[in-house]
This record gives sequence, C-alpha cells and structure tokens, in this order.
Amino acid sequence: MALIVQKFGGSSVANAERVMNVARIVSETYKKGNDVVVVVSAQGDTTDDLIAKAEEINPNAPKREMDQLLAAGEEISISLLAMAIETLGCPAISLLGWQAGFNTNSVYGAARIKNIRPNRLQAELAKHNIVVVAGFQGINRYDDLTTLGRGGSDTSAVAIAAALHADKCQIFTDVEGVYTADPRKVEGAKKLKEITYDEMLELATLGAQVLNNRSVEMAKKYSVELEVLSSLNPIPGTIVKEATKMEKMLIRGVTKDKDVALVSVLGVQDNPGVAFKLFSKLSQKNINVDIILQSFGRNNTKDIVFTVTKENGPVAVELLSDLPVLDGAKFVCNTDVAKVSIVGAGMESHPGTASKMFEALYERGINIKMISTSEIKISVIIDSEDADRAVSAVHNAFIPND
Ligand code: ASP
Ligand code: MG
Repeated sequence: MALIVQKFGGSSVANAERVMNVARIVSETYKKGNDVVVVVSAQGDTTDDLIAKAEEINPNAPKREMDQLLAAGEEISISLLAMAIETLGCPAISLLGWQAGFNTNSVYGAARIKNIRPNRLQAELAKHNIVVVAGFQGINRYDDLTTLGRGGSDTSAVAIAAALHADKCQIFTDVEGVYTADPRKVEGAKKLKEITYDEMLELATLGAQVLNNRSVEMAKKYSVELEVLSSLNPIPGTIVKEATKMEKMLIRGVTKDKDVALVSVLGVQDNPGVAFKLFSKLSQKNINVDIILQSFGRNNTKDIVFTVTKENGPVAVELLSDLPVLDGAKFVCNTDVAKVSIVGAGMESHPGTASKMFEALYERGINIKMISTSEIKISVIIDSEDADRAVSAVHNAFIPND
C-alpha cells in the first residue's frame, strides 16, 4: 500500500483512446490497493491552440487573461479523465489547481508555487477517491488563476508528491525514459536505468526534453524520487534520484543544442569595468548569456566572446553597438553554431574525460570554437553543420555501441 503520484503529459491524453489508456493505468495502480493522485496536462496541442486563439484577438493580451485562458486546457483533461476512470469502476474526482490547494505568487505565465494546502487532497484520498489534479496552474493571493510556465505540469506533480510525502512520483510520457542521447538520431543510444538529480538538471537545461528543469530542482530539494516512463509501453523507465544511492557513471548523456548564437566583440579597451558594463546591458534586457570567453589583453585591447540564444544574437549586437565603453570595437554574430555537451557525475573524479571528448572530435576533423566546463559537464561550441557527427562521435567514444 503506497501513495503514488502519476503525471501524464499532453500527448498521453491527446484523444479519447489515450485518455482511456491513462484511465486503465491509473485504475490498475488503484486496484492494487494504492492511494493515487493523478496530475494531467492539457490534451495534445491544446495550450498552443489557446495561445494562437488569443493572438488572433490581441497579440498583447494582459497576462492575467492569458492565464485565465490557458488554465482551461487542463480543466478539460481532468474532467475527461475522471469520467474515464468512472467507466472502469473506480471512484474518481477531478480538482482544479486552486481546489487542490496550489498557492502561487502573482507572476502570471511563470508563477512559482508558494505552498500547497493539502487538506482537500487528503480528504478525497481518505474517501478512497482517485484524485485527478490539473497541472500547470494555481491561484494567487488575489484569488486569480495563475499558470506555472510551459511544461509546468511536471512541477505540479513533484510539488504534490513533496507535500503529501508520496512514496513515488511517476512521470508518464511518450518516450520510454531518459536516454544517453536522442534515440531517434544517435545509433546505440541507451535508456538509462537511473540518473542523479544534478545530471538530469544539466540534461534538461541542455535540451533533453523529457522533464521540465524546475521540476527536477524541486524533486532534488525535497528528495522526491522520480520515475520517467512511457504511457504506451508498460516497461520500467528511468529513475531520477540522489547521487549517494547509485553508482557513478563517467558519462550519463550527450546532448546537442542548435539554438545558439556566438557573439564576438573584438578589440575592446583593456580597462576595468568593460565586462561589467557589457553584461549588465544584456541583463537589463533579460538576455541570458551562457558561455563567456575573454582573451588576454594585448596592446591595450582584448576580445570578449559569448553565446546567447539564436534569437538574441542580433539583439545583443544591436544593444552593444551603442554602448560608449565599447567604442571602436568590432561586432560579429555567428548563428551557424551548436553546443555539444557531455554530462556525468563520474567525470569529477576521473581525469582525462575532456581530452577523450576532444580526441573524438579531432578524429572527425571537427574544430572546437569554445569550451566550457562545470563539475559534471563539458560543453563545446562547434559549427552547426558538424553537430550531429559530433554527437555520434562523442557518444561512441564514451558509450560504445554493443
Ligand atoms: N499544458 C501546459 C503546456 O503545454 C503545461 C504542460 O504541458 O506541462 O505547457
Ligand atoms: Mg503540453
């Protein structure tokens, strides 16, 4: 007998047949004697469709109204799922975010959960109901609806698991788990049995689209063990948990991110405060900078090179070209680049990981433009046309094809 939180993404409830499939998974879990809370996202592309509808009417719609609108997507899926579960002979009740006690701050469109008042959830569980909760939404202190940002239902599920001290939080999706690389693109990509929170966080940030990164942060903070698994194929998925509970692997995954622009600011004055003024200008405009490289000063000038998203590349150049402190500098924006990264907690204690990655790239004649490392990650910036070959080469070097 356990308390299990199960979350199903939009593709898992896209149509009536899929909703019935989810109802069967949930009912089976319940019939084994477990207490079950289910969190669901909006069906298929519903959220995108609602955004498109709003844009037709008002491209600058007030954010409060956008949240009021988007919350409707999840309202549809919870009621349909509760009805589906009833047909299988199990008692179910659907709850919107506010009914389930989700209190958030007031940042419409990107609200943070402040707390969950679990009284109603607990009361429904005590009545032996399967409780179906709308993901992605809550209520603020003005009693207005809020949403948590795209992909936010994962976070809703983890938050409920933490608040109720659930025994398990299962995230059902349309892939079978977390892989060492994108299995559609990389031959020999393997499904991982387990992965640490920190590794998952790096992979999520680097573009592996299985889990929303805020949900992984929260799972780590409250030690909620997650399982990522398929709603269509009933086989064990990938467990995300604490590092101390598992064997370290040198490399857990290889990722590629093509949404990168490389901005070079060449021939900058070699004076104090230049980097500060440059990057504060970007941060004032909410431009997030990823990798930064500065050359040694020579003849009183130096070069500063950094990466941002593709969209922000030209924006950054435009902003910086008016900055007095950069007078005389030359700007270049290269959007034909990609970032390839390896992630693994084992590299902390294993010398030679970087050189092994660089060797694999060298053997394929791939030139590295920038390198950045953290304790459990090494990223390189390369030409985007080399990205797929680079991922395969690096994957092959660390995770041999068997
Ligand atoms: N329906 C929302 C979205 O599409 C939330 C989610 O799917 O987690 O972003
Ligand atoms: Mg969705």
